[in-house]
Amino acid sequence: MSTPSPDLEHDAPAWLPWFGHFVTRRGLWAGLILLCGTVWLMALGLSQLLITLMGRGDRLVATLCASACALLITGVFGYLFLRLVQFQDQTRQRVSHHATLDPLTSAFNRRHFLQLVDREWSRAKRYNMDCAMLLMDVDHFKRVNDTHGHLCGDRLLREIARVSGETLRQADVLARFGGEEFAVFLPHTDPLGALDVAERIRERVEQLDFSWEERDVPVSVSLGVASLQYEHLTLDHLIHDADEALYSAKAAGRNCVRAKLGLQPGHSSYAH
Ligand code: GH3
Ligand code: MG
Ligand code: MG
Repeated sequence: MSTPSPDLEHDAPAWLPWFGHFVTRRGLWAGLILLCGTVWLMALGLSQLLITLMGRGDRLVATLCASACALLITGVFGYLFLRLVQFQDQTRQRVSHHATLDPLTSAFNRRHFLQLVDREWSRAKRYNMDCAMLLMDVDHFKRVNDTHGHLCGDRLLREIARVSGETLRQADVLARFGGEEFAVFLPHTDPLGALDVAERIRERVEQLDFSWEERDVPVSVSLGVASLQYEHLTLDHLIHDADEALYSAKAAGRNCVRAKLGLQPGHSSYAH
């Protein structure tokens, strides 16, 4: 999911991101060999072409001169150029990272989540496919902060994001939606499957063996589930329903899952 943001590459020449990835993936020396090899072949070809056009000259001397010039000049300037390309690619990756991920939990941030999910949502709507939205809120989180401090709260959020992420499939999208609230989008998941996922996350968080300064910190989450229905005209409607279900879970005493349709977790088609 940490693919480069298309926005950031919009103005760059098409070969630059490709070359940047190549240098980052294969290393500076592989880039330098590729560059030197290309320039060397061009210089060789050009020197031989000139001799052919002029009708005189020593081909061996031309080959040696072209090789020495190409390798020496490309070696020096190519190295400097590649350092620049490498720096540019690392900067782009860092910017893309900050633009898409929540710095505390490394889950997607709300803005990027909505961008990704909007695409999936449109596809599900067009082809009449199942999908679901979960909203998850940490129970009595203010109490955790007040009792153990904000650093403990931050660590706990990170842990919750980690175990939630471990529960999900590759295609599912997890994001930190705000303060101590997370959202999960489940493509190709029917209503019962969505409830099962929510219940599994709830259990994993409840079983978290979390302690801070040698004191146990009990933790639980409440989850609201909404599955795509005919009446959901926009993604906002689906999120709104998940939010209402979350509110019901809080009202029902927390540490539980509630859905708009009144279903219960059970066997489903959701598969890892
Ligand atoms: P409820 O069970 O009703 O959700 O109660 P709650 O205490 O979890 O909810 P409330 O909205 O009263 O408090 C949320 C707290 O989350 C308040 C805010 O300081 C804390 N919080 C929000 N973002 C962060 C964060 O990034 N780090 C930490 N440590 N705390 C955060
Ligand atoms: Mg909240
Ligand atoms: Mg809360």
